[in-house]
Amino acid sequence: MTTTVGDWSYPGGVNGDPAPMLVDGTWRGSASGETFPTFDPGTGEVITEVALASVQDTDLAVAAARRAFDEERWMRLSAQQRGAILWRASDLIRASADELASLESRNMGIPVPQARAMVLEAAAQFQYYAGWADKIHGRTIDLGPAERRIQGYTLREPIGVVAMIVPWNAPLISASKKLAPALAAGCACVLKPADETPLTALWLGQILQEAGVPAGVVNVVTGPGETVGARLAEHPDVDTVAFTGSTEVGRSIVRAAAGNLKKLSLELGGKSPVIVMPDADLSAAIPGVAGAVFWNTGQVCAAGTRLFVHESVFDQVVEGVAEAGRRLRVGYGTDTDVDLGPLISRKQLDRVTSYVEGGRRDGARVVSGGARIGDAGYFFAPTVLVDVDQSMPVMREEIFGPVLGVMPFGDVDQAVALANDSSYGLASSVWTRDGATGHAVARRLRAGRVGVNVHRAGGVHMPAGGYRQSGWGRESGQEALENYLEVKSVVSALN
Ligand code: NAD
Repeated sequence: MTTTVGDWSYPGGVNGDPAPMLVDGTWRGSASGETFPTFDPGTGEVITEVALASVQDTDLAVAAARRAFDEERWMRLSAQQRGAILWRASDLIRASADELASLESRNMGIPVPQARAMVLEAAAQFQYYAGWADKIHGRTIDLGPAERRIQGYTLREPIGVVAMIVPWNAPLISASKKLAPALAAGCACVLKPADETPLTALWLGQILQEAGVPAGVVNVVTGPGETVGARLAEHPDVDTVAFTGSTEVGRSIVRAAAGNLKKLSLELGGKSPVIVMPDADLSAAIPGVAGAVFWNTGQVCAAGTRLFVHESVFDQVVEGVAEAGRRLRVGYGTDTDVDLGPLISRKQLDRVTSYVEGGRRDGARVVSGGARIGDAGYFFAPTVLVDVDQSMPVMREEIFGPVLGVMPFGDVDQAVALANDSSYGLASSVWTRDGATGHAVARRLRAGRVGVNVHRAGGVHMPAGGYRQSGWGRESGQEALENYLEVKSVVSALN
């Protein structure tokens, strides 16, 4: 496959050059000429080299975004024109869906059909926010008594320069969830993809240029979080950081942002609970629970990793989910008939392995999985643990792998208490045939999203985000626009 971006071609392309960055509408290497490798996690082999941005390169990208914003290169267009450009971007993403999916699969390991679904979800983000571009309005408010009538109105203005820092587990979607609403709001952007998965973010930069986004409005810089990400978080010319990643790094971004008190939106980690009530339809709940934890090899912020099952159906559900895990075909993402790909990296493989080993030492019993598969790539078997309790790290900390801990409960109050016993609050689900129970439990769960008889659902129309240490702000839906807008009040004396 050869896909050209600027004068560079993906991966191992015609000229074999390192992938460049996008700064002020131009594709360029880093100032130092340094590069870093990006890997195929299915084989551990290098796909290509990528420009290694330094603090200096990051500053150039921020300066480009600042200029683009201050010169109103994007806001000078009408809201309808901006909407049309975002719509065109969604069309271009769809037109390249096969190639983008292959590249995403190769760089992060996810099976191609699932990568393709992610690409279409990214396209949907641009389509949805294209519709919002000309519907961002203020309000009119009349003030004062008759003798001193004042008319007030509000303007919704773009916040300015947005730094976007995203993880590797859904690279194109994570970038699109920020770029699409930020552009609809009128902002200028610097995107930093995860160092593990820079390739589709660069391609997205190319697509946005092709769609008609003016130079400097979208910049893409590639490099490590500790330098590039940290510089973006502290940069005085960045007005807001939109971050998706771990709670630990989120905390360091909060500290770095204190300098100019920049606003933040944070989509952080999770340890999401799933409750199976005694009356649940197990023919739906068992595959639903398995999908909630194992999809994308468990590398999902909202993965349902803590399962609470009523004691009357405990054994049946545990065996059902374990069997569903055993039946999943684990393999190389671009092979056909594969359900789960590898973990992203050696580091992640070691992390998942050490959590499972730690769980065993703490007294957990492995019902299924529990170990690496093979010795090439970073494959890990879908794993179900029982004899766990809420004090164990496997039940408290985010593992970010295909590992489920299961506990029994006696009544609904106990189930809700166990589910809410977490420092996180990202997602959750409850499985029951009784609609009233489902909605009552939904109100009691402390999480940004609750599924009733479904775990992974929502899409672009529904806001998603975290309670507690799972984040600040919301992505998707109308709510995401708030991350990128300021409200200005204008008052005018009428007499
Ligand atoms: P991570 O926090 O290690 O990295 C995320 C991004 O932050 C990367 O681009 C990384 O380079 C950058 N980064 C690292 N250190 C930094 C620093 N000091 N300053 C600024 N940036 C820095 O997360 P990850 O391992 O890439 O992704 C997995 C995590 O992301 C999990 O915790 C998962 O729950 C979370 N996540 C959350 C959501 C959500 O919507 N809530 C979605 C996807 C992933």
